[in-house]
Amino acid sequence: MSKKRYWEWQRPECPQNEPERTEFLRMESGRFKFTYGWMYAKYGLSSMECPICGVWEEFGEFSFECPEKFRSHPNLTMRGPVLYRVFANLVQEMEKEFEKQGIVFDEKKMDRWLWLQPGIRFQPWTFRIPCHPPQYSSFFWGCNTPFTAIVAEEVKQAFEKQEVAGVTFHPIEIAYVDEPEENPESFGPLYRLRVSHFGPDWRDWDKLERCSYCGQYLAPKRPEDIQFSVEHLTDYDMFYTYVLPGYVVSEKVYDLLQSHNFSNGPTLKPLDVVGL
Ligand SMILES: [Zn+2]
Repeated sequence: MSKKRYWEWQRPECPQNEPERTEFLRMESGRFKFTYGWMYAKYGLSSMECPICGVWEEFGEFSFECPEKFRSHPNLTMRGPVLYRVFANLVQEMEKEFEKQGIVFDEKKMDRWLWLQPGIRFQPWTFRIPCHPPQYSSFFWGCNTPFTAIVAEEVKQAFEKQEVAGVTFHPIEIAYVDEPEENPESFGPLYRLRVSHFGPDWRDWDKLERCSYCGQYLAPKRPEDIQFSVEHLTDYDMFYTYVLPGYVVSEKVYDLLQSHNFSNGPTLKPLDVVGL
């Protein structure tokens, strides 16, 4: 049996001298051609400030939509940080709302990065574009987040047809920056490609120290010499790993991308897996 192969999923190259925006993500369509649009999550939990351990913000992303009831809440528009007590009250209210949908936030049963932690984003994301629609492309990339993409219908269909495991697609809201003369939806539909699982961690979270006041993990830094090895693999075709900055993809994803003419697709870098 030939051994399995894996790749690192990377964004196509982006010019380094482009000014970065911190508030929104600037999107790229086609090599070095910018759309002058931004992708952002309209709803997400604020960062939180604890009097003991300081500001806490994660960058996780839910596959769940922000409950209707909270969409105009001032602390769900990514402004922050808010005080721990304010944050804790909001999370408690949200948990009740999610429970009505059958989603229970149980720290013991859920992936750690999917708890209602400060900074976590909800679906749907919005792609704001200027009146002149950008050049159409299969993949759009953010400058600040080198791995996450929004994709066109043909990419979603190909991934779903091949049953690529570990990825979900969520409709993107498209909006014009200026007064729209055309229907912005005519540019879509577009989807957020979300990788849904992490591979095994190098930490034992049950044994890590937590802030006694707010519960934030006082996590040790990742060892610099850690190498991606067989013990970090999963059965998913796409997954995050705590060991590398981006996604890992399987041969199925590699073959799929090779056999389609997607424009502006990711660069796949062959990955050495220690012990494979
Ligand atoms: Zn704290």
